[in-house]
Amino acid sequence: TVAVALFTSDLRVHDQPVLHAALRAADQVVPLFVRDDGIHRAGFDAPNRRAFLADCLASLDAGLRERGGRLVVRTGETVDQVCRVVRETGAHEVHVAAGVSGYALGREERLREALTGLRCALHAHDAVVTALPPGRVTPASGDHFAVFTPYFRRWQQEGVRAALGAPRSVDVPRVKGEEPLRRAGVAGVSPGVPEGGEAAARERLTAWLRSGITEYGDRHDDLAGDATSRLSPYLHFGCLSAVELVHRAGRKGGAGADAFVRQLAWRDFHHQVLAARPAASWSDYRDRGDRWSTGADTDRAVEAWRQGRTGYPVVDAAMRQLRHEGWMHNRARLLVASFLTKTLYADWRVGAEHFLGLLVDGDLANNQLNWQWAAGTGTDTRPNRVLNPLTQARRFDPRGSYVRRWVPELADVAGAAVHRPWRLPEPERAALDYPDPVVDLAAGRDRFLRARGA
Ligand code: FAD
Repeated sequence: TVAVALFTSDLRVHDQPVLHAALRAADQVVPLFVRDDGIHRAGFDAPNRRAFLADCLASLDAGLRERGGRLVVRTGETVDQVCRVVRETGAHEVHVAAGVSGYALGREERLREALTGLRCALHAHDAVVTALPPGRVTPASGDHFAVFTPYFRRWQQEGVRAALGAPRSVDVPRVKGEEPLRRAGVAGVSPGVPEGGEAAARERLTAWLRSGITEYGDRHDDLAGDATSRLSPYLHFGCLSAVELVHRAGRKGGAGADAFVRQLAWRDFHHQVLAARPAASWSDYRDRGDRWSTGADTDRAVEAWRQGRTGYPVVDAAMRQLRHEGWMHNRARLLVASFLTKTLYADWRVGAEHFLGLLVDGDLANNQLNWQWAAGTGTDTRPNRVLNPLTQARRFDPRGSYVRRWVPELADVAGAAVHRPWRLPEPERAALDYPDPVVDLAAGRDRFLRARGA
């Protein structure tokens, strides 16, 4: 008998319920990945993610080969390609991770229907992408939690499933696959995009558990210290399982591990919001009656924000980190998102789209719902708070090291002046190739609060 294990956002062999179930169901398994045309059409395969994906597929293939198998890659519509493989191999079951986004849920439905015609069953597995499946815990009134704290309480009580080991062997039937996607063939990739794939992910995880996690609670907001795990791209592509991470961090124990697990629960939280409200990927989760600022001045300021030339050094440092690495520190994401949506009062979708064009970890649940959180149209219980970039810089980059690292024009500015170069004495100020602020912080804040009626 033959079963298909359809890989989506779960590109790993460790704790892989989809592969595990397929192996139990049949003598032979086709580990299949479809480079989905729909994702390509939606512009979702930005170069940084495509490059990282190439590594992920190569690493998954290597993991399967170590076990006597291999990865079969196809390109096209997922439903068509899976049906073809089913016909070619006579598979009687297809296993896949349960979808969370509207796109994945729709694809799952179409696949189920198409497979029925082929007398082939579809099994969608929970808790493959997230630690707790969306909908597992719900409030007394409603289909999802709209506030994190009560969600987290229930999340902790519920507990995540046990992690599965990697399979010993995988027997793959004869079936055609394509030449693998190669990272070297992808143009326009940011220079600092890390190596993708399960092997790199597990190395990073081991190092993180050995040394980084203990101090995470105290240091995670330190912009220059770079003291977070940087596991997000690996979680996005499923090179690591959130379930395994929760258990391994839990075994480590301590305040740092607790704080880290809480962040993993944030990831689950956003996924359960999106699963319940798929439209929140591009529509306001909570409509605040915003009439976002538009026009030539806003366009110019937004472009300066994209380029890292707003004249606010900590904002610019963050935006340049994004462009260079395809990643940005969480504290920096928060402050640049507040700057765009509140100080400039530009539509959060503009920012979310720019992030999705560059982030290696860019995903609908985390990106869109964090953007909405920052814009006050999402699940933040204080939707009108405005982060002041100067206060943020003083608190989270007190020595200015983050700014000097990413804004070389300011590398020689000493002391706290690095956060306010416009205050430097004139000859020194004029010598810097660095713009004046694109907006007055107090005026931006006032305009936003007036618009919100706050
Ligand atoms: P760590 O601090 O080590 O946290 C561990 C893991 O917890 C992360 O890898 C991530 O999976 C999860 N996590 C941490 N914080 C959050 C959070 N606020 N929401 C959801 N999950 C979280 N994260 C993404 O994975 N993809 C995105 O597209 C994304 N876009 C964002 C956009 C904005 C405007 C903001 C404010 C945040 C966004 N985040 C996104 C959340 C967060 O910034 C990143 O997950 C985090 O910076 C990744 O770095 P890390 O792996 O070192 O995180």
